[in-house]
Amino acid sequence: MVSEPLANRTEVIVTASPPSNNLRRIARGDLCAGCGACGGMFPDRITMEMAPPGFLRPRQHAPLGAAEEAALSRFCPALGQKVEAHGRPDHVLWGPYLEMRTGWATDPGLRFAGASGGALSGLLLHLLESGEVEAVVQIAADPENPIANRTVISRTRADILAAAGSRYAPSAPLAQLMALVETGRRHAFVGKPCDVVALRALTEECPEIAAAFPVLLSFFCAGVPSETGGRAVLRALGAEPEKVARFRYRGQGWPGRATATLTDGSERSMSYHDSWGGILSNHVQHRCKICADGTGKAADLVCADAWESDAQGYPVFDEADGVSLIVSRTELGERILQDAVAAGRIRVAPFDVGGLAAIQPGQRERRRALLARLLALRLAGQPVPRYAGLHLRAAARQNPVLRNLKNFLGTLRRVARGRLFRRK
Ligand SMILES: Cc1cc2nc3c(=O)[nH]c(=O)nc-3n(C[C@H](O)[C@H](O)[C@H](O)COP(=O)(O)OP(=O)(O)OC[C@H]3O[C@@H](n4cnc5c(N)ncnc54)[C@H](O)[C@@H]3O)c2cc1C
Repeated sequence: MVSEPLANRTEVIVTASPPSNNLRRIARGDLCAGCGACGGMFPDRITMEMAPPGFLRPRQHAPLGAAEEAALSRFCPALGQKVEAHGRPDHVLWGPYLEMRTGWATDPGLRFAGASGGALSGLLLHLLESGEVEAVVQIAADPENPIANRTVISRTRADILAAAGSRYAPSAPLAQLMALVETGRRHAFVGKPCDVVALRALTEECPEIAAAFPVLLSFFCAGVPSETGGRAVLRALGAEPEKVARFRYRGQGWPGRATATLTDGSERSMSYHDSWGGILSNHVQHRCKICADGTGKAADLVCADAWESDAQGYPVFDEADGVSLIVSRTELGERILQDAVAAGRIRVAPFDVGGLAAIQPGQRERRRALLARLLALRLAGQPVPRYAGLHLRAAARQNPVLRNLKNFLGTLRRVARGRLFRRK
């Protein structure tokens, strides 16, 4: 019973003959994260497109050679991830890092527009102004479909301001990778942890890609909801999609409200708690539920919400001036942060890593439950990503045995019932 095919999956579309073995494995396990790296590396054979219920997926048009298959298996985050601490402190849940602080952009416009403290945007502005990079590759709202995303190249403060804020919708920032490399420019890259896993692997293999992307930034990521999730938010707001001129998932305050601006200028909004907690988190893709790295372990710098916590230690979502958590993971990241502070672009304060598990319950629970979920999927005959250096056993030991058992049985049950994904 447990080896029944999964229902309601999002297909990787393979029309080439012979199809890529890697893409077939990814399709069988619904493992694609939608980063677009395969399309970015092999643009004449793979393109990204929206697939039901609203995730970005590769379509393979022509066969890949043996060398390309081998390369794909090294950089595709659907297939696996390897983390090496190289002497850095390596926290079981949060991975290798040099320093963790809280901080925010000193530019009040960036701080207000940003998802939390606008620290990512402040760092990007510093990277441009200091000449460290010539352009930034990042995600912004798609003007033709305001709940969706597109990849943009930012060169000015106005560009960065326009892209500030988290967008809880699919993004494939690596889909034009080789075209960006061919520009000869130096870019800072901002992406989901899985995007950065792929790009880091590629920079380690290819000097041209490393030269084009000298700085990689990321954010904590609980998972990518489908476009169906975004449409469900619009429905709950009573906003007809064709009358929505602009849509923000949050920002304009911390955490800020999910806000649809209609063509007549009126606004409909709901709280972060209701939009993310009540709707979007139910539409997250399968790969994200078995992600071992929601915290950007391959990035130079990572930002997250530095929520205040209540007396019980739970995060508080009351509106406040935004504060980001800023994690320096590499010496380059730490040097850039210190330069940004010295240049007056970022203000920082000390942060006690001991408090992080309490204010990031989603990240904490997913890491602790992961081994049980992976074991259940393997028992059910489903392919899973190959993880190395991610402390799966140590994280699982932080869970009571009963909770691991519950996750194991719950995953088996969902596979068996053919409804691994709760998509509406
Ligand atoms: C899908 C998703 C899940 C998240 N889950 C968590 C979580 O579990 N815990 C947590 O603390 N934080 C999470 N975040 C991150 C959080 O919302 C903030 O991004 C983080 O606090 C940094 O805020 P900031 O103000 O410093 O960034 P900002 O200054 O607002 O900059 C945000 C940057 O992220 C980029 N970006 C926005 N959306 C996307 C996207 N979909 N794909 C790629 N790049 C994007 C923008 O282009 C911009 O450069 C998530 C973000 C996303 C998009």
